[in-house]
Amino acid sequence: MQLHDSGPATLAELEARLRRDLELLVMPPTKDWLEPRAHPEYGPVLDVAVIGAGMSGLSAAFALKCLAVRGLRVFDRSPAGFEGPWATFARMETLRSPPELSGPAFGFANLTFRAWFEAQFGLAAWKKIHRIPRLQWMDYLRWYRRMIDVPIENDTALIDLGDDGEFVVLTLRSPAGIRKVAARRVVLANGREGLGGAYVPEMFRGLDKRYVRHSVEDIDFDALRGKTVGVIGAGASGVDNAAGALEHGAARVAMLLRRPDVPRINKGMGIGSAGFWVGFHALTHAQKWSIVNYIDQQAVPPPRDSMLRCTRHKNFSIFARCSPRAVEIKDNRVLLNTTRGQLAFDFLVLATGLTVDWDQRPEFAALKDRIVLWRDRFMPAGHTDYGQGDHPFVGPNFEFVERVPGTAPWVSRIHCFTFPAYLSHGPISGDIPAISIGAERVANGVASALFTEDHDRTRRRMTGWSNPELRGDEYVLDEDVSKFLADQPGVTCKAAMTRYSRRPIMAASPVPNARPRHCAWPPCCVTARSKNIISADWLRWERQIR
Ligand SMILES: Cc1cc2nc3c(=O)[nH]c(=O)nc-3n(C[C@H](O)[C@H](O)[C@H](O)COP(=O)(O)OP(=O)(O)OC[C@H]3O[C@@H](n4cnc5c(N)ncnc54)[C@H](O)[C@@H]3O)c2cc1C
Repeated sequence: MQLHDSGPATLAELEARLRRDLELLVMPPTKDWLEPRAHPEYGPVLDVAVIGAGMSGLSAAFALKCLAVRGLRVFDRSPAGFEGPWATFARMETLRSPPELSGPAFGFANLTFRAWFEAQFGLAAWKKIHRIPRLQWMDYLRWYRRMIDVPIENDTALIDLGDDGEFVVLTLRSPAGIRKVAARRVVLANGREGLGGAYVPEMFRGLDKRYVRHSVEDIDFDALRGKTVGVIGAGASGVDNAAGALEHGAARVAMLLRRPDVPRINKGMGIGSAGFWVGFHALTHAQKWSIVNYIDQQAVPPPRDSMLRCTRHKNFSIFARCSPRAVEIKDNRVLLNTTRGQLAFDFLVLATGLTVDWDQRPEFAALKDRIVLWRDRFMPAGHTDYGQGDHPFVGPNFEFVERVPGTAPWVSRIHCFTFPAYLSHGPISGDIPAISIGAERVANGVASALFTEDHDRTRRRMTGWSNPELRGDEYVLDEDVSKFLADQPGVTCKAAMTRYSRRPIMAASPVPNARPRHCAWPPCCVTARSKNIISADWLRWERQIR
């Protein structure tokens, strides 16, 4: 029999299928295993607080929900539906990733981007899709959020983090004011720039924002009409911002890079595979660093479509071997002294990337000096420092590791499920294709930590468990074993011989026709041999023969 499933014809039908999948798998499980707790000052204690409702935070929260972690809450400082880069500072037309990815679907086929897309636009449209449009990806994440149905508070920023000896204490700021919340565990899913922010080379710091902005900042592209625009950096955001300026009518746009040419090969994509995602964590420190450092050194090229988006404009230039040496703003122009001469722009975009920079994250002031960083654990031969030395060195479940053992154990209650964990875990903490693997790892780690911490409570629950499966009215105990006793020839029982040699064993023996001083009663011989195990039957027999 050949079955053909053309898939759901509407989003409502897809949602019904997903609900059924979850029902069939009993997700979330119905049985509670975590006891609610209350903090004397801050009220109900969360089992897990997730910071960030972007793709990583949502998928981690869903994975936790699927483990019946119900004291769960996600906080995001962005307004609902505008989490992460997609509808904010990202300026590409489409994602780099190919559309055939399961992303945060976490093993649920009906939760994938493809299922969502096909339910609305059909299979024929899916077959034509080359790359996922950026804003459509955001729409999918909004739907995903609705489907996984976890408690989320938007417009709520984490502004401080500490401990009270037992719980992690979060200070949150929302339109309602500032409040503190206690949590047993925290998952930081606060994005690629979560432990830092924009990387701004020294010479550009403090310049007038009317003329110079980083690519993650708001840029008024309409104001660039007729202007000469410079873009520093030739990665994905370099070309996306150059394209934005060109499409908004900039007179001329130049993209500057230090290298002799634009990087063309994406080494990270070459190595990306299921093995890399699940196995990276098990590599040695040196092996991990050699991979990450090589990818960084080779640099990630901009996607081909993004480059074509720029080069279709005749007023676009790329200057290679063009390193900025000094910058000043004079007469409303940015004057850039470079290795290719003095260049002048009306506006300059710094597409210089994101970095780990603890000083840009006051909310983690208490963490910064208490956790192990990569440079504390590993220094490549011949180096005194390295680019990723500031990145946190996280444990098998993304947990921070305390720098001086015994001084800040609470840091291990915080799980760093963000891009800066890349050197420890590979690309499972931020990139779309592997995010479910990361979400599962962090959720399992958090749940197992909660479970082991609760050992005493679990034991108490177990010993206090009094729900009978049998009521006692299903059976009766049979006192008479004689119908099952074996009638075997005697086996010499030394114990019986020594202890009862002068006693009338036969008279009381339950074994018919047993010979004196020989015991043909298996339980007797067993107990005699093992000496310290006396069966109830043996004791009964002993009482009889005394
Ligand atoms: C421009 C751009 C394009 C990308 N394109 C691709 C691509 O094509 N394919 C791919 O695989 N990956 C891509 N990535 C990488 C990755 O997929 C994204 O960075 C993705 O957004 C990561 O999801 P996330 O949930 O970890 O972080 P985010 O989506 O950034 O979400 C983090 C959330 O945390 C919140 N937050 C931060 N700090 C706080 C705080 N203190 N309190 C409360 N909330 C806070 C933020 O508001 C944000 O909503 C891209 C990244 C960027 C920046």
